[in-house]
Amino acid sequence: MAKGYDLIIVGAGPGGSVAAKTAAESGLKTLLLERSRVPGEKNVSGFGLTSKAYRDFPWLHQMELPSMRVGRKCVAHILSPPPELAERICLYSGTSRRISYQEGKEFFTVMMLRREFDEYLARQAVAAGAELRTLSLVTGLVRERGKVCGVRLEGGEEFRSPVVIGADGVLSTVARHSGLREKWRPEEVVSVCCIDFSASRERLDCVIDDATFHGFFGPGIGGNYFMCMAEGVHLGGPGVGNSLISRLKRRRIKPAKELLDTIKAPSTLNLLKAVDAVPREWQAHLLPWLDRMPTNIFGAGVMLIGDAAGLPEPIWAEGVWQAMYSGRLAAEAAKEVIDEGDTSFSSMQRYLDRLEDSPVGRDFIGGVQMRNLFELLGDPRVLGELTEMMVDLFVAMFMNGQEVHAEAMSRLLPILAENLPALLEVGRVYTPVLMEMYSQSLRDKLRLLKSVGAILSGMTSDLDQVDGDGT
Ligand SMILES: Cc1cc2nc3c(=O)[nH]c(=O)nc-3n(C[C@H](O)[C@H](O)[C@H](O)COP(=O)(O)OP(=O)(O)OC[C@H]3O[C@@H](n4cnc5c(N)ncnc54)[C@H](O)[C@@H]3O)c2cc1C
Repeated sequence: MAKGYDLIIVGAGPGGSVAAKTAAESGLKTLLLERSRVPGEKNVSGFGLTSKAYRDFPWLHQMELPSMRVGRKCVAHILSPPPELAERICLYSGTSRRISYQEGKEFFTVMMLRREFDEYLARQAVAAGAELRTLSLVTGLVRERGKVCGVRLEGGEEFRSPVVIGADGVLSTVARHSGLREKWRPEEVVSVCCIDFSASRERLDCVIDDATFHGFFGPGIGGNYFMCMAEGVHLGGPGVGNSLISRLKRRRIKPAKELLDTIKAPSTLNLLKAVDAVPREWQAHLLPWLDRMPTNIFGAGVMLIGDAAGLPEPIWAEGVWQAMYSGRLAAEAAKEVIDEGDTSFSSMQRYLDRLEDSPVGRDFIGGVQMRNLFELLGDPRVLGELTEMMVDLFVAMFMNGQEVHAEAMSRLLPILAENLPALLEVGRVYTPVLMEMYSQSLRDKLRLLKSVGAILSGMTSDLDQVDGDGT
């Protein structure tokens, strides 16, 4: 007979483990199934955990992993068009005091290896009381009266539970077998190639220190990146920007070739040499990347979270915090529907409602327009002109030792006027993002006013009653 649980979670990535931890802490008998030998074995090398994960999951402050390097600065290298790829501008930036929460004011990201992080999270789930079964590949779902009520493993073993959470990544078996999604459309996924290097900790401390994230942009190059951990470097590309640009322009790209071309750029090559980087392995992954919040992510007895749901955000395709956040919301929803004894479609709807209302859902505001901004970045005309404008402003006005200072300083207006078409083009694409964001915040304010109105009218009727009673 199939063994029974309150909740089964398929996949022990960041989403699945946080869902399992939350569920076990709420008292649900929870089974976490992972196909590999240990969580994290899928291995996407290094990654950056943004400070908002520390804000929303304060227990992460206790996490200490050998590969961690805290990022307090990020660097943008703006290159000239291929094939030269010579560096035109390099901007170092610390965090901004305008960020709305404390961790965000202190650091951008913590870089670390995924195999260490995934294993750490799975250990947290087990410590909370969840049962973890590795080497357990889920190949199908069990259904009864139209509802999902369990899973089937390779080899035929079955486990039952009133709710199943699909945390099984981009090629989700749960999505397919529940009928929520057969497969992604080509424009909904991107391929990301990356190379992992070992590097000397001492050299990284000298050369990189806390400037752990370097992005490489340029006319026709969309955001390849270089991120540094304690003793290693992860070079990713063609950055999601490139894949997006190729998609928007309906042009085929060769991701691996573009990554290798980036490595040949003098700025990347010099950094790799400076830190004594030695290649360890190279990988290619699919990543869902949608410009609208997906909605077909739940059904009777089933929910999808993280990459399985298509939640990486629309600008950078950051997906770990999204997986963790959606995992927690799904586990909370599971606890409620199980306690209520109602796992029907309409009862499960609460998961989507809360997700749409959460910062994960709200990241999709302006999604299409934000992607258009990316397209603009890769446009040689716009980025090319703006790069030269920045060089002119900085060098031809301020860092000018060759000419009379007053003459150099008088160039501001001519430089801006000359670049007006490119500036207007950026404004044209940015305006719709602002419009969509403001219309959303206006809607929020109206909603708030309505609820304040309801409270006030409730208080007025209480007062009327008091008056009527004379008490
Ligand atoms: C190269 C690269 C770099 C990235 N860098 C960043 C970054 O810096 N920061 C960031 O936030 N995001 C980054 N992302 C995105 C991020 O990796 C994903 O969004 C995130 O891993 C999603 O987590 P998840 O738990 O939903 O799924 P996954 O991490 O994909 O985990 C799914 C788990 O399910 C298991 N599984 C799959 N199928 C089955 C099955 N049938 N049965 C049992 N188990 C199964 C897998 O083995 C895996 O352990 C990057 C992605 C790539 C490809």
